[in-house]
Amino acid sequence: MLEFGLDMAKCRRCGCEELCKDGVAKGKQRYKCKQCKGTNRENDKRPK
Ligand SMILES: [Zn+2]
Repeated sequence: MLEFGLDMAKCRRCGCEELCKDGVAKGKQRYKCKQCKGTNRENDKRPK
């Protein structure tokens, strides 16, 4: 069961949908991908 209240439900790196919440940084929800272990941030559109 995934719980996403936001429109971001996919990893920006590998595209998988298995993200888990990884706390909040600067008022924005962070997510951690279970596959690539990448960290995704809400509204983070800048490429690395
Ligand atoms: Zn990923």
